[in-house]
Amino acid sequence: MKCHNCGGEFESVTTDLPFKTGAHSIIIIKDLPVMQCGNCNEYMIEDQVMERVDKIIDMTEKNVEVEVLRFAA
Ligand SMILES: [Zn+2]
Repeated sequence: MKCHNCGGEFESVTTDLPFKTGAHSIIIIKDLPVMQCGNCNEYMIEDQVMERVDKIIDMTEKNVEVEVLRFAA
């Protein structure tokens, strides 16, 4: 798969990413598997991973300002 930004090669890595779940709430998901460009650090999240992220977000308390979770594969 090629990077849409620079044409470099994507590689699979795990990283920690923040997701906004409300006006003042953010969850940080650790060990998230993403595809990252080795050239420009652009990343993309695959559909099946994003679906699981959506489920994780649904399960979190919306009134917690910051929550840190681990992505369980
Ligand atoms: Zn790139």
